[in-house]
Amino acid sequence: MGRMLNALSERSLELGPARNAEPTGHFRVARDDDGIVWMVLDRTDKRVNTIDRPVLEELNQHLDRFEREKPAALVIRSAKKAGFAAGADINQFVGASAAEIKAALEQGHQVLDRLARLSCRTIAVVHGHCLGAGLELALACDRRIAVSDASLGFPEVMLGLHPGLGGTFRAPAVADPIEAMTMMLTGRAMPARRARSIGLVDAVVEERHVAAAVEAAFYGDLRRKSPSLAGRALGFRPARQIAARTMRKKTAEKARQENYPAPFRLIDLWEAHGGDEKAMQRAEIDSFAELIESETSKNLVRVFFLREKMKGLKDGSSGVRHVHVIGAGAMGGEIAAWAAGQGFRVTLGDIRLEPIGAAVKKAAAMLEKVVKDPLKVRDALDRLIPDPEGLGVAHADLVIEAAPEKIELKHKIYAGIEPKLKEGALLATNTSALPLQDLASGMRDPSRFVGLHFFNPVSRMQLVEIVSHDRISPETARRATAFAAEISRLPAPVASAPGFLVNRALTPYMAEALVLLDEGIAKERIDRRAEEFGMPMGPIELTDQVGLDIALDVATSLRERLGEDTLPAAPDWLTRMVEEKRLGRKTGRGLYDYDGEGKPKKIAPEALPDGSRDDPDMVDRLILPMLNAVVACIDEKVITDEEIADGAMIFGTGFAPFRGGPVHYARQRGIDAIVARMRELAAKHGPRFTPHPGWERLKG
Ligand code: NAD
Repeated sequence: MGRMLNALSERSLELGPARNAEPTGHFRVARDDDGIVWMVLDRTDKRVNTIDRPVLEELNQHLDRFEREKPAALVIRSAKKAGFAAGADINQFVGASAAEIKAALEQGHQVLDRLARLSCRTIAVVHGHCLGAGLELALACDRRIAVSDASLGFPEVMLGLHPGLGGTFRAPAVADPIEAMTMMLTGRAMPARRARSIGLVDAVVEERHVAAAVEAAFYGDLRRKSPSLAGRALGFRPARQIAARTMRKKTAEKARQENYPAPFRLIDLWEAHGGDEKAMQRAEIDSFAELIESETSKNLVRVFFLREKMKGLKDGSSGVRHVHVIGAGAMGGEIAAWAAGQGFRVTLGDIRLEPIGAAVKKAAAMLEKVVKDPLKVRDALDRLIPDPEGLGVAHADLVIEAAPEKIELKHKIYAGIEPKLKEGALLATNTSALPLQDLASGMRDPSRFVGLHFFNPVSRMQLVEIVSHDRISPETARRATAFAAEISRLPAPVASAPGFLVNRALTPYMAEALVLLDEGIAKERIDRRAEEFGMPMGPIELTDQVGLDIALDVATSLRERLGEDTLPAAPDWLTRMVEEKRLGRKTGRGLYDYDGEGKPKKIAPEALPDGSRDDPDMVDRLILPMLNAVVACIDEKVITDEEIADGAMIFGTGFAPFRGGPVHYARQRGIDAIVARMRELAAKHGPRFTPHPGWERLKG
């Protein structure tokens, strides 16, 4: 919690004379004795500042006055503790037509152009988050002062867009153009000092020095960096063409142009108009308005709201401060490290010492990657306490069991710890497949037992399935959900049914890939097709990553429990590979061979011999059974909310975000069309493609 508390802790912001000014709307405005006007954004209707039409219109009215009254200088900052501004209000984008967006953008640009032309010096002071349209507002000022905790970025690409309020030309004009482009292309935010080094801001100061920095900016002591030689060269088209080629290549390594057009559009704009601000401005508005109507952007905006909905499942606090994790293996170690990184006190136990040591070592590496700030890493590691004797069990508010997937073993562990648990403590399991009601049998108090099903790797997979069962108390489910949100993961409530949601849906995808492989289709081709559909990883590589032993176990147990017709039988050679300990990435050999860095050695599908096998049904054979399983889960009330099912698949499996989720994709394609297609595949390939009756009810 430390990190969260820090961010929210009292801080006294230097708001100049505006501190005492009455808000007349979203801004508080006041003039000091030197004639400097402080204009403080403090939205009356929101916890964080976002930029939308009313804010810009209000700014415009103030500009009317400033043009008349000619203040000595204008300072813009935010009164919100969390930051300057989080970007545009995304609600504005929902359902808006390209024409409406274009009209709104044109007005917005006029306001920011007016701000940029104001005859007095304009200074933006930014702290905390300064993103998207917030950063574009700051860029329309003459100078930018960042408080040292500021984080600046353009997250628009995550919504299938690029900056639309002047960022595309103002950022490359003040900062190193290549760095500015990279920022907009990746959507990654950067800390204040880095922003200073690329020229995006002019100074970085501690909060207590803001007034002095404003003064320095006013009297002209704060000089802007002049553009580098390389930066100036990019004013010429041939130089931009060369740079654009590299950018396209790098972007294509991360995203397919067909699926994610926005970054490629941005490169085109910059290549054609970079250095010509007026032309770039016109092109930016047109291109943004076009992108907003694209399916990709609509679906990514949907994903944004799915995430908000999942975060919103948190209802009150978990009341958890101390977590004890049992089992320091692949999952337990990561869960413990992650929770410590998020501010919880964590004790980590195991029956053996060696896994605990290894887990702490891995925790350091993981936290260095995610948290970055060495002081915060050290604090997190201080909170992660090796506990081979399991003393933490008696003090923890939440015990998470992550021991091997064997029911007798888990029963034994519960029997040993239950008498020691503190009053009010929760007991959670990370089981992937064991039914919770079976695990709870024999417990004294099953009402406090819950599944917290994390995904591997915990630091990257945002989903946690909150698994309930027939004897769980609503309070346990509520607290477990809150805990997942408190550690910045996204909760999805599911019932204890075979494979819960995610594994039930992913297993047919991986199982079908093995059938295709058996039919003689090259593994690289199978993976490529799935990636083209938009999956983050092809099913063959995924099977290797999960581990052939685990994949075989899960598939066999799901097939037993859901019926033989639901999944293809695992091929004999898979069992043999598991016996020979060719288990996938973790053993360096599986369906692929792995290099020293753990990367699969693949032949490019283009290099496969002419006439090598293919199947035009391949993508549907991989994807439709996954959709069918999601629909089955909704129908069987394993998950009750269609949107959360979509969110869970996106954040738990990486299901093509630009498609908006499996159910949304099915609805877009047409439920009747999917059902008909599945019938066709069932006739051709077998009953595993039979559409679940839930499809009909989904239509209702
Ligand atoms: P693992 O084998 O890597 O780790 C299990 C650890 O538990 C080992 O370090 C072992 O020494 C320890 N252990 C064994 N008996 C113990 C006992 N009595 N008390 C304390 N510690 C004990 O296993 P894992 O892959 O981390 O899986 C753990 C659980 O998480 C399983 O239920 C699994 O189904 C589930 N899970 C695994 C994954 C995954 O991708 N590996 C994903 C989600 C859930």
